[in-house]
Amino acid sequence: MFTFDNSYARLSESYYQAVTPATVSQPRLIIYNQSLGQTLGAETTPPDNDALARIFSGQQLLPGSQPIAQAYAGHQFGHFVPQLGDGRALLLGEVIGTDKRRYDIQLKGAGQTPFSRNGDGRSAIGPVIREYLLSEAMHALGIPTTRALAAVTSGDLVFREEALPGAILTRAASSHIRVGTFEYFSSRKDWSSLKQLTDYCINRHYPELADSHSPYLGFLEAVGKRQISLVTQWMGIGFIHGVMNTDNTSICGETIDFGPCAFMDHFAFNRVFSSIDRQGRYAYDQQGQMAFWNLSSLANCLTPIIDDDSKKATQQIKDVMERLPDFFNQQSSLVMGKKLGLAEATPDDLPLVSLWLRYLQDENLDFSRSFRALSSLLEAKATTTALPQTAGFTQFYTAWQQRLTKQSENTATSLSLMKRSNPCYIPRNHLVEKAIALATHGDYSLFYRLNTLWSSPF
Ligand code: AMP
Ligand code: MG
Repeated sequence: MFTFDNSYARLSESYYQAVTPATVSQPRLIIYNQSLGQTLGAETTPPDNDALARIFSGQQLLPGSQPIAQAYAGHQFGHFVPQLGDGRALLLGEVIGTDKRRYDIQLKGAGQTPFSRNGDGRSAIGPVIREYLLSEAMHALGIPTTRALAAVTSGDLVFREEALPGAILTRAASSHIRVGTFEYFSSRKDWSSLKQLTDYCINRHYPELADSHSPYLGFLEAVGKRQISLVTQWMGIGFIHGVMNTDNTSICGETIDFGPCAFMDHFAFNRVFSSIDRQGRYAYDQQGQMAFWNLSSLANCLTPIIDDDSKKATQQIKDVMERLPDFFNQQSSLVMGKKLGLAEATPDDLPLVSLWLRYLQDENLDFSRSFRALSSLLEAKATTTALPQTAGFTQFYTAWQQRLTKQSENTATSLSLMKRSNPCYIPRNHLVEKAIALATHGDYSLFYRLNTLWSSPF
């Protein structure tokens, strides 16, 4: 079904542990993402559902697959944990897609690994349904993310606060290497493995840096830019990741690990969804700061390999890190500007964006719906009830109109830009929860419907 080429497994065993997926009693296919499968090299006519269920529960290993659990560490809510690793996930292997890109194929919830600590290595149906829906919606929104290839129920119960149906998600990613992977070797002072890992990542994700004057410094800046670009895109759709720990920060800049995340409804700068995030560390408007925090962790890991002279290395890193806030403002203004119909917004437009967001917060308005209402207003078919005509609104609206007249694009162009940048369908949490509740009782109808709906968000 796939032609594997497992470059990570060819690294030495300090990076991973070989594993075997656990036996499950009755694997049943919920869904197979056929178009993604084909991108990964699968045949147009896939095996039957029973065979797919065996494959995507790890019961039948495909030729060339070499299951491993990857080692990583991580800062969780600011606290360093020297060993985390794939405790409930395993990498089946890597494939080169028809798009010529390399992908990891990973099972999540396929049983214990040497990194499971006290966990069962399993997953209940809820997190599988959530990650499937959210990661595919994120992809449809045009934002870098891991993808969902398949979901299977195991036929076994997993025990959380209650007994729940067990399930396994198969996901594809450009890789599953995290900032935490670097921290794993750095905290062990294993500089040779760290250096090899960095070379591997440059070769796999940033090949243009390989021959540059200072590849490791360039690597830090490139990872930084991808992270910042990712976070500004999240903020553009009102997404709150919820657990931006360094072990959930992907080196290639994809959204990874859809845990207690959510798309915001009523806008507030400090909105938090995750009940475990009591301090609001990963609140909506903290996500840029937290990306910097995670990048600083990566910078610390890279210091010894950037320059033998630690003072020099620190200064070079400082120069890179100091350039990133400007990049953040640039990206942020571009993303938010498009949502307001501005083709080439600059950081000078950020006060206008703030006026709008403050208005949404003051009036407790829905983030996504309000942007759509604004485009209707530009189209002159708005009902004013969607956007209360307060003093705050007038202040924003006047400034916005003035700014629109300053750009060369006409209203029709602005309008079409807004429609392409403001989704009408986003994974609303109450719908995700409803789909999970139904799936828990074996009814996947809403899951299928939402998955289709959110695949065309604009
Ligand atoms: P996460 O919160 O999903 O990013 O996971 C953090 C760490 O906990 C990772 O090392 C996971 O592999 C591990 N983990 C989470 N759930 C389980 C589980 N049910 N069994 C074993 N390990 C787990
Ligand atoms: Mg994680």
